[in-house]
Amino acid sequence: MTTEKKIICIICPQGCNITVKGDLDKGEIESIEGFTCKRGKNYAENEFIHPLRILTSSVKVEGASAPLVPVRTRTAIPKELLFKGMEEIRKITLKGKVECGDVIVENFLGTGVDLIASGSVEAK
Ligand code: SF4
Repeated sequence: MTTEKKIICIICPQGCNITVKGDLDKGEIESIEGFTCKRGKNYAENEFIHPLRILTSSVKVEGASAPLVPVRTRTAIPKELLFKGMEEIRKITLKGKVECGDVIVENFLGTGVDLIASGSVEAK
């Protein structure tokens, strides 16, 4: 089945509006229009077939100077895993000091990407 997605290219400030048509089940692109350069074409192709996002959220911390610490995936993960990722993050409770860059969960959701702290809290 043909799907059409309108994608705003975020590679440079020009923000070209790119339209991609294709079959997502087969991972095939039928047409792509609106890009101005090869980088934008590549971005739109990837965004159509396999969109990725960095997941950002907060994790509960007990016995620390703040009740939450911000976290994020080190790099982007498949967009379809964001909801499941938020559910997993809600189950986590850390204790005491957390430093920015600490690995909170290795290989988060089997993506090969770690969930890391993007802020710090001190132990109480
Ligand atoms: S398609 Fe090329 S020119 Fe247009 S926004 Fe993307 S990178 Fe910039």
